[in-house]
Amino acid sequence: MTNAGRRIGVVGAGFSGTLVTAQLLRQCRPGDRIYLFERGASFGRGLAYSTENPEHLLNVRASNMGAFPDAPRHFHDWLATRSGERGNAGAEPLHPDSFVARQQYGAYLEDLLRQAISARASEIAVSLVNQRVVDVREGDAGGLLIVIDAGAHEVDAVVLATGNPPPDESTPGYFGDPWAPGAVDGLPPDAPVLLIGTGLTMVDVVLSLLRRGHAGRIHAVSRRGLMPRRHAPVAGGWSIELSARARRSALAACREVRANVDLAARSGVGWRAVIDALRPVTQDLWRGWPLAEKRRFLRHLRPWWDVHRHRMAPSVADAISEAVDRGQLIVEAGRIRIEQERGSGIAVRVKPRGSEVARRLTVDRIINCTGPRSDYSSIRDPLFEALIGRGTIRPDALRLGIDVAESGAVIGRDGQISDRIFALGPVTKGIFWEIVAVPDIRAQCEALAGHILRTLDRRAVRAPEGLPAPR
Ligand SMILES: Cc1cc2nc3c(=O)[nH]c(=O)nc-3n(C[C@H](O)[C@H](O)[C@H](O)COP(=O)(O)OP(=O)(O)OC[C@H]3O[C@@H](n4cnc5c(N)ncnc54)[C@H](O)[C@@H]3O)c2cc1C
Repeated sequence: MTNAGRRIGVVGAGFSGTLVTAQLLRQCRPGDRIYLFERGASFGRGLAYSTENPEHLLNVRASNMGAFPDAPRHFHDWLATRSGERGNAGAEPLHPDSFVARQQYGAYLEDLLRQAISARASEIAVSLVNQRVVDVREGDAGGLLIVIDAGAHEVDAVVLATGNPPPDESTPGYFGDPWAPGAVDGLPPDAPVLLIGTGLTMVDVVLSLLRRGHAGRIHAVSRRGLMPRRHAPVAGGWSIELSARARRSALAACREVRANVDLAARSGVGWRAVIDALRPVTQDLWRGWPLAEKRRFLRHLRPWWDVHRHRMAPSVADAISEAVDRGQLIVEAGRIRIEQERGSGIAVRVKPRGSEVARRLTVDRIINCTGPRSDYSSIRDPLFEALIGRGTIRPDALRLGIDVAESGAVIGRDGQISDRIFALGPVTKGIFWEIVAVPDIRAQCEALAGHILRTLDRRAVRAPEGLPAPR
């Protein structure tokens, strides 16, 4: 650590990296220094909020998308002062319950980062480094070297805020990554398309195809054929007390949630209030379950949980239902085998769930909508290959992300908790589970910023400058 102050490097400037930077700026002392690294085109937006399609809406109400835990309405209020009080793509008047275009949320994050930097510009130096980080390793002077494609920067602590890794590689006719440029481009308007997966990613891709005037059939297939449920006004609150048994067993928790859903339905409140009431306890519940129970949940309950927990904005649900009703979007449960690419399309076999007979389908394009890949032991990314290869970090036991302590400090191959490298956001999903949406990540950003700064102060006391500090 230098006399000039604490130096922190943040890798990734999506929501997580942007917000931990804003929190560091709130909590840092004059003389501290922050580096924010982003390999993509913009600082602030990340994958979710880079979309240029105004029909891609947030799936959380505007009044709960504020970037700070102590001000959940911050985004709504920001939008109200800027957009002439219009919510979704300028079409509907803004209301706290509006589901706003994700691109507007991206503009909010960019503005927030600009403001956070300028508010402390005279005290804290922030470098926005538009480069890919390829390694983080010990530097010669006792710090950590953040290695980028063109050079390196030395810091005292690093935050990995790299978000979701791309889902899959692409091959001719098959787009492994639905967010890659061109995934929905260049198709004849009447071409049949196959989407693998029926969740929110599939919904986004269908909206993109429709916006381009696509009139051909869109087949969407997943093992269970479950689609996200629709958001609807919640008629009253609900509180849920899970038993000690539910805290040990996924099945017991499921039974108790179902019992609550029945009760809520009878009292006219509805299941959504029950699912929403689980949000504050989900992380604790997850962390309390033994590994075998987490695996059981992932195997049997996850698809059901996902479609009830991550819902579609009402106007999005309408567009999807209309596409289903006119026979353009066909959603089914089944298994897919890609047979061959022919001159006239790609031959696919679809075996509907519960049937022994497979059906033949020929499509012009296949787009993978199964969501991000999460097993870091097989991810082709120089940064993670280097860190895992050296044992600095390790995948979590469920292969949903990387292993971290409750504080967010990464855990190495030898089980040691780092006091210099931290992670947050979706990369920590294996440990916290409910850590993919803004209301959860914003709290993690605030807590992690404070934890890092306190940890660096403790290290400075233990290891005066020039002496090697413990890991
Ligand atoms: C399509 C989509 C829609 C969503 N909609 C909502 C919503 O409506 N409401 C909600 O609450 N949540 C939503 N989410 C959840 C979303 O995951 C979180 O809100 C949040 O955006 C995650 O941010 P992140 O910064 O962790 O990840 P990301 O947004 O993926 O950002 C990570 C950033 O790190 C950069 N990066 C990665 N590796 C490197 C490297 N080696 N060097 C430099 N830069 C690097 C990437 O380029 C990227 O910009 C959505 C998610 C997706 C995918």
